[in-house]
Amino acid sequence: MQFGRAHGDCVSGAQLCGCPSMDDYMVLRMIGEGSFGIVKLALHVPSGTEVAVKIIQKKEQSAATAKRLVCETQGLARLRHPHILRLVEVMESKETLFIISEYVRGGNLLDHLMEHGALTEEEARGWFRQLVSALQYRHRRGVIHRDLKPENVLLDPAGSAKLADFGFCSLDRGGPLSTFCGTPGYMAPEVMRLQPYAGPPADVWSLGVLLHALLAGSLPFWGEDFDAIQRSTLRGAY
Ligand code: ADP
Ligand code: MG
Repeated sequence: MQFGRAHGDCVSGAQLCGCPSMDDYMVLRMIGEGSFGIVKLALHVPSGTEVAVKIIQKKEQSAATAKRLVCETQGLARLRHPHILRLVEVMESKETLFIISEYVRGGNLLDHLMEHGALTEEEARGWFRQLVSALQYRHRRGVIHRDLKPENVLLDPAGSAKLADFGFCSLDRGGPLSTFCGTPGYMAPEVMRLQPYAGPPADVWSLGVLLHALLAGSLPFWGEDFDAIQRSTLRGAY
């Protein structure tokens, strides 16, 4: 099955990589599902390379989300780091946006935790170092992640972690951020308070929660609903 030919102009992300043909790709199978759409494994036929394609139906997205998706592609396109998912290209048809990235075949870190349980300090140290390095690189280039969690870390068979999912990313323009986004349990207190917040420290908080999840196999701040998670986070009670 092929995507079929695109209609319409390139989006801004695609202009960064030229306007390629979607007929070059053959969809193989579904590999993931997230908040914006589905992710499928596909083959780039001319090169024989496997890639991941995030498929987003434009009409199902709000204007704010569409803006964030452009940010996602621009954020990805400007980064080159061994532990950050690499963007291959972006294409669009009239109704659909295709974000094509390298395929990371070892699943995500949440699946790994569910299957194997909490990690030892020795095991966690390697991946955590890689993620710290990836986050430092991103922040130096003004790209805030805003949704750090194990589901958004992919693992390759060589044992390397790759930071993925730029769906909530923000390009840092120096001032405080005000958009309430992320995942309860991983959000910094200042984000949960719905007050303007600085992007990099909020990411660092989420990375600390992720480290706790790796070592304990559970989240430090939790509750039955958002209010309970918020209370736990704001009190620092775990
Ligand atoms: P969403 O923004 O909808 O949360 P993600 O980018 O996090 O979407 O993708 C959802 C899931 O799809 C991930 O948790 C992962 O399991 C899988 N996935 C996404 N991108 C890739 C990729 N490049 N290689 C392999 N699996 C991927
Ligand atoms: Mg995700």
